[in-house]
Amino acid sequence: MVNAQLKAEIKAYAQSIGVQKIGFTHADYFQTLEKRLTFAAEHDLLTGFEHPVIKERVDPSVIFEEPRSIIAIALAYPNQTDNNLRSKRGEWRGVFARASWGVDYHTILREKLALIEAFIKEKVPTARFKSMVDTGELSDVAVAERAGIGWRGKNTLLITPEFGSFVYLGEMITNLEFEADEPMADGCGECTQCIKACPTGALLGEGRMDGKECLSYQTQTKGMMPERFREKLHNRLYGCDTCQVVCPYNRGKDFHLHPEMEPEEAKIKPLLKPLLTISNREFKETFGPMAGSWRGKKPLQRNAILILGRYKDQTAVPDLVNCLLEDPRPVIRGTAAYSLSKIGGGIAYDALIAAEKEETDAEAYQEISKALLQLSEKEGSY
Ligand code: SF4
Ligand code: SF4
Repeated sequence: MVNAQLKAEIKAYAQSIGVQKIGFTHADYFQTLEKRLTFAAEHDLLTGFEHPVIKERVDPSVIFEEPRSIIAIALAYPNQTDNNLRSKRGEWRGVFARASWGVDYHTILREKLALIEAFIKEKVPTARFKSMVDTGELSDVAVAERAGIGWRGKNTLLITPEFGSFVYLGEMITNLEFEADEPMADGCGECTQCIKACPTGALLGEGRMDGKECLSYQTQTKGMMPERFREKLHNRLYGCDTCQVVCPYNRGKDFHLHPEMEPEEAKIKPLLKPLLTISNREFKETFGPMAGSWRGKKPLQRNAILILGRYKDQTAVPDLVNCLLEDPRPVIRGTAAYSLSKIGGGIAYDALIAAEKEETDAEAYQEISKALLQLSEKEGSY
């Protein structure tokens, strides 16, 4: 068997550095993935966050000279917090999805992959690697699936029997040949719980997803959030875990195996009002190390404004009026207008009237006019 001894040593080493699962696969073309990505591209189901060149995503030989194998790793992450911090009237909190708890997982997994590279290199100096986590060309889920780490569920995530879908994935292409592990059989069967639970209908069945309809994507965009998602956002500041939470394979799964992945409740369930006035420096210090800050503070502030509007938080009116009248970013002004119309009251109305006179951005102006109209219809004129 090719490099069987080395494979066993790599597995043992990976385990010793805190990798929960490791799998090996050949470096052939990913045919099923190509079909899936082509279908998604043709039906406008991609978000634009994905690596743009399909050929590079499905053919390792395009991005690596003479690839022989791909090694996939999975690290389990926590599912539960102590749950000490709860929202109260006037002190509403938003939530970050689990993949943003603790230190950015990209950093943690890259370190593990670098350690494994160094371990192999010491034994085989001619070994070459290309490692990636999430943002690389390859699909982490497709690689892990083929390497036998788990199966791709109808929620499009990789599900492992041991840790459910609460695993971070990474992989490395190498010029070394290893015997491939066996892929796992599909475990979803007739279950459709994730599809039924998705608040936006983004899961289309057969493992397909309309990426742009997914709230996880919507929480990360920088423009105005389309109106149909605003109420469905609920209290999500970043990401969405609904299709993981309902999955039967995640029931009872909660692993705390990496201290750096432990969530700090005040950061993953932050108070919303202070987020509206947070300075760049404070934002970087507080949220910078988290995966959920990668798009900067604007999407999170926009989401915080929407959540405050949904909760009809009267105590947030002064901060929202400030956003509406003073913020230099049209998206923040327009979103504040929307939420003020949800909360209502004379102060909100007067602020919207003043904002309508001053607004120069077309999109924000449209939001303000719509907000005024909705407020007048709801409460009559002031
Ligand atoms: S993350 Fe949320 S919105 Fe996206 S597919 Fe899953 S349940 Fe639906
Ligand atoms: S909820 Fe059911 S269908 Fe969806 S991923 Fe989990 S097992 Fe599969």
